[in-house]
Amino acid sequence: MSGAVPDVLPDWLTSARRICVLTGAGISTDSGIPDYRGPNGVWTRDPDAEKLVTLSYYVADPDIRRRAWLMRRDLQDGDVRPNAGHRALADLERQGRLLALITQNVDGLHQAAGSSPELVLEVHGTVHEVECLSCADRTTMRSALDRVDAGEPDPACLHCGGVLKSATVSFGQELDERVLAAAAEAAADCDVFLAVGTSLQVWPVAGLTEIAAASGARVVVVNAEPTPFDDLADLVVREPIGTALPRLLGLAD
Ligand SMILES: [Zn+2]
Repeated sequence: MSGAVPDVLPDWLTSARRICVLTGAGISTDSGIPDYRGPNGVWTRDPDAEKLVTLSYYVADPDIRRRAWLMRRDLQDGDVRPNAGHRALADLERQGRLLALITQNVDGLHQAAGSSPELVLEVHGTVHEVECLSCADRTTMRSALDRVDAGEPDPACLHCGGVLKSATVSFGQELDERVLAAAAEAAADCDVFLAVGTSLQVWPVAGLTEIAAASGARVVVVNAEPTPFDDLADLVVREPIGTALPRLLGLAD
């Protein structure tokens, strides 16, 4: 555990055929998406911003909803593209070595980079869809933002009039049990568990690392900051994700 990508990769990594990847905010910061919880995170600098993604405030306060829609519009209009880290994981799938790609991110950048939607498990949901909090009807974020642009500051569900929200897991909202179960199954079934750009401090997702290790998988952590699972890991890498991942996965020239 030196923090650098080893010059000679261990056999257990080069021979791994069922790699389960878990990604967090750190893989998307190179794409210009802010890390909400990090030292310079949005919520760390502006605790009020957290209300926009806290269910009780969102449901109770139309003004919070209006601000949330404006924030969503800003996020969608930004020039956000996948980076070298996302592309390396799409390449890993092309090699036939990717078992599952679990992500805490809601930005859809893994799919944009070419990862198959059926292999991407979005445990915190996606900003590309909206869901009605009353009838659970789903539509695209684009169609909801078109209504915002057309003058509806807080568009309601077209079926039942309920409150619409991005299909992301807000604070105070349960994770999707089916997605979580699929993630746990992949963690238990992999030969290498690769955690990338996540502080591994948000449960229950952080517990996937323990499931993988307890099931006999090797654990690799790629993160700029220490995580609670570094001692458990077989390899810890602190180098930037965009350069570290292609080398770790044998994809660099
Ligand atoms: Zn509805």
